[in-house]
Amino acid sequence: MNSHLSLEEICRWLSGECGEDVEERIRECPACQTELRQFRNALAGFRISLEQVPVPAVSYPRSRQTLSRWILATAALSLMVAAPVYWNARQQRAAEQAKADELLLERVNASLSRSVPASMEPLMQLISKENQ
Ligand SMILES: [Zn+2]
Repeated sequence: MNSHLSLEEICRWLSGECGEDVEERIRECPACQTELRQFRNALAGFRISLEQVPVPAVSYPRSRQTLSRWILATAALSLMVAAPVYWNARQQRAAEQAKADELLLERVNASLSRSVPASMEPLMQLISKENQ
């Protein structure tokens, strides 16, 4: 004797994917026929309820749309303001870096071209003041 249909077999039967053996079991078993009928009725009821309930239109409140437009406009504006500021700051930083490099190079040059060691410099200044 065959067992009753499983849920998987019922689903396959509903989608028309079952074999001849399942069809035969359904024909021979009133309990499975009842189960299939109930399942089909439930599905049909579900489909009808879906068709009858209107799908709510997706709409945002007007104030929210306006708000999001404002946010977008503000973001665009701040980007337009911030981009040149950022660019200027970057260029200024590069210029400062170049200036600092130049200063360092000058100091290196100065210390290289010194005729006397740095520790003797106060003495040299004294001498040059006396000369003036
Ligand atoms: Zn059965």
